Amino acid sequence: MEMPKRLSIFRMLTDFKKELVKYAKQGAPNVNENEYKDRLQICNKCPHLKNAYRCGLCGCVVEEKAKWATADCPDNKWKKHEGKSHNPKDSQ
Ligand code: SF4
Repeated sequence: MEMPKRLSIFRMLTDFKKELVKYAKQGAPNVNENEYKDRLQICNKCPHLKNAYRCGLCGCVVEEKAKWATADCPDNKWKKHEGKSHNPKDSQ
């Protein structure tokens, strides 16, 4: 019974790492505030949300992943990101 749990954690970490690398390589672009709120509202109603913070399909912490313009919902529930992304480096 332990093995599937370990595989699940391994997969979650691997998926999160892939998303993080993609985000970092593209200069850490974020969605705007409205798009972020829309994504979180969708996640909060989603049956895949686990423990009110983690996506059960990709394993990511949704409050973090929803900020990233490079990220997609693994169940295609979020609107496709369009328009300008906010790059944190622009405001430095
Ligand atoms: S990222 Fe997608 S699948 Fe995961 S909890 Fe949010 S809406 Fe659900």
